[in-house]
Order: sequence, then structure tokens, then C-alpha cells
Amino acid sequence: MILEKFRLDGKVAVVTGGTRGIGLAIAKALGEAGARVIISARTSASEAAEVLTNANVDFEFIEADMREEGAADELTRRVIKRMGRLDILVNNAGVAIHGDSGDFDDETWRKIMSLNVDAVFRSCRAALAPMRAQGAGVILNIGSMSGIVSNIPQNQVAYNSSKAAVHMMTKSLASELALENIRVNAMAPGYIETDMSRGGIENPDWFPIWRDMTPMGRVGQPDEVAAAALFLCSPASSYVTGEVLVIDGGYTTR
Ligand code: NDP
Repeated sequence: MILEKFRLDGKVAVVTGGTRGIGLAIAKALGEAGARVIISARTSASEAAEVLTNANVDFEFIEADMREEGAADELTRRVIKRMGRLDILVNNAGVAIHGDSGDFDDETWRKIMSLNVDAVFRSCRAALAPMRAQGAGVILNIGSMSGIVSNIPQNQVAYNSSKAAVHMMTKSLASELALENIRVNAMAPGYIETDMSRGGIENPDWFPIWRDMTPMGRVGQPDEVAAAALFLCSPASSYVTGEVLVIDGGYTTR
């Protein structure tokens, strides 16, 4: 049965930033497919616990600020201690800050790069030892259409650069790790309705431009990203590695 290739029974999945938005939807999807899920973020969220409990997902929360230098190693250590294995890593935690380039200071640049790029690499690196020991693993990095096109009207040089880095990091790791049975893919969502995008959706100067530049004429929902995440994290995509799957309502076609 082809649908069995989407099952994740017996697998352990970690989703960084899994308490809200896209991360929570991915955690729910992987959990519904049978994985035991660890969600991590800086603050625990009762909303996430309620969503996952109602969906009968076997989950735990581990607090972690992924910007901190040792956070990825520590998170991986705690996952192995609690669950005994790590099969699927979803690097989802990310931040977007916009601003004109002439005024974009070093501190804000670092705020974005330390989470969107440094933490993603450290997290991939930390997962390698347990995945190698198991002889298999899957990594999914959340990039963005902003790593492919410079979407407007907001200026976001650091965010766009960080997501382009995520895409290339994904391809580089996929190439390096393919013979070790570790697949590495990314997704590049367009505008998805979450806390991150809410300010733009509510901004009358921005939203009509976002909508009109999206061929499907609407923003996406976290579930629409999560379904693709399940594909990329499951044996359904067993011959897919190094892919950056765009989920953007057609935005990057124009
Ligand atoms: P949200 O802002 O809604 O959620 C972000 C999640 O990350 C929360 O769980 C948050 O929890 C966690 N987080 C934030 N900072 C840190 C940190 N320093 N350490 C650990 N966890 C952290 O974001 P989205 O769901 O919208 O975005 C998820 C991913 O998708 C991001 O990588 C984003 O760039 C990408 N994306 C989003 C798009 C969109 O339109 N929404 C479009 C394209 C890509 P807490 O604050 O408690 O730490």
C-alpha cells in the first residue's frame, strides 16, 4: 500500500520552533503519522500541548533557545537520553526582521543569522552522530521563497540571505551524506498565515501586494506546508534528497 510509505511508526522526530505556526503543524502531521515527537522552543505553549494532545500525538517539549552556541548539541543529547534515538530532524525555528539595508545594524543581522543559519547548521551537525549510528536519518530545513526571490514590498536583506544559505546548506549536506542514508531536504514556503506573517497580513500597505503577487490569490495555511513536510520526512520520498520544495501558491512562477 503506497499510503504506508507515509507512516512513521517507531520513529523519533524533533521539530525546533514546534510550538506555533508551521512548526506545530509539522509536529502534528509527523505525530499523526506515528512518530514520537519532540517540540522545542524558548517558551512552552499550552496551545501546542492542547493541539497535539487532541490529535493523540505522543509528544514532549524541550526548552531550548537555538541561538545559544551549545543549544543544538544539548537538545540532541537530551533527545537521545529521553527517546534513545533520533530519526527525523526538522529545523523550523526562524525569525524575520525587515528594514532598509542602510540602517540594518550588525546586531539585527546577527539576530537573524544566528537562528536562521548558524543554529540550522549546528543542529544538522549534532544530529549526524546518532543518525550515523542508526545507519539512517532524515533532515528537513525550513527555508523560504525569500531565499529564491526578493519578495516585496518589505525590505529584508538579512532574512532573504539567511534563507538562501539554508537552501545551499541543504544541497551541500545532501550531497555529502547521501551514501550514508541520510537525506537532507528543504521547503521554501511562500506567505503562510502564522504569528510571523500576521503583521504583514494586517498591514493595508503590504497585504494587497502579497495577495496580488501570489497567483493563487491567497496566503497559505500551516497545514498546507505540513503535508509536504510529511512527504519529505517519510519513506514516501526515499529517492529525494537535496530538494528545495517550493510551497508558495505560485508566487515564484512570476
Ligand atoms: P512563528 O514565528 O509563528 O513561530 C516560530 C517558532 O519558532 C515558535 O515556536 C517560536 O517559539 C520558535 N522560536 C523562535 N525563536 C526561537 C529561538 N531562538 N530558539 C528556539 N525556538 C525559537 O514562525 P512561522 O511558523 O511562521 O515560521 C516557521 C519557519 O518557517 C521559519 O523558519 C520561517 O522563517 C519559515 N517561513 C515562514 C513563512 C511564513 O509566511 N510564515 C514563509 C516562509 C518561511 P518561541 O518564541 O517560544 O521560542
